[in-house]
Amino acid sequence: MPYFGSRSSSNLENVNPRLVEVCNDAIKTMDFSVLCGHRNEEDQNKAFDEHKSTLRFPESNHNKKPSDAVDLAPYPVDWNDKRRFYNLASIMFIAANHIGVKLRWGGDWDRDASRKDQSFNDLPHFEYKGEAPEEAKHNQMILANAYNPGDSYA
Ligand SMILES: [Zn+2]
Repeated sequence: MPYFGSRSSSNLENVNPRLVEVCNDAIKTMDFSVLCGHRNEEDQNKAFDEHKSTLRFPESNHNKKPSDAVDLAPYPVDWNDKRRFYNLASIMFIAANHIGVKLRWGGDWDRDASRKDQSFNDLPHFEYKGEAPEEAKHNQMILANAYNPGDSYA
């Protein structure tokens, strides 16, 4: 069973414990790295300057302490293999339902299951949006299915 390396573990240190629970559940299914949890002012403005974020400090969910956002990448990291990022998103939403958490993914900011209305794609980015009541879990299962690239994805 995959588990987090020391760098991923330390990146989870200043992350909302509920979001950490989701990550701990998801990694049982797919190996991935935690690239980033909390971002301080310097790190956030650097991410903005490098167009990795559209927000300056302290606007990002990464800037809260503990952080309400994590950036994840399937391990080993291959930025060109988007299919694995979609697969991870699907697994994260299934894990979120196990734990009872509401998530938002940077590949579908408005949570409408469509990736065609995105002005900014942030495929590694996941945000904690509070606890998920039972009725919200049905919607999240629809999202998990929509994000799943399936076998026919080219
Ligand atoms: Zn992020």
